[in-house]
Amino acid sequence: MDCSEDDCGRSAVVELHIPWDDNRLVCAAHARVLGRQDGVVADPLPDSADDLLE
Ligand SMILES: [Zn+2]
Repeated sequence: MDCSEDDCGRSAVVELHIPWDDNRLVCAAHARVLGRQDGVVADPLPDSADDLLE
């Protein structure tokens, strides 16, 4: 599963729960950026724990 952000080909490792939008599956880098917004919860995908350790 690839990151849902445009022009990003990295693997999605985090599910973002966004109160004002649909949930998104994103890579670690985008999770860091998008997860800073108020109310957003970043939920690491269980299958991807290894990728988060890079
Ligand atoms: Zn990304």
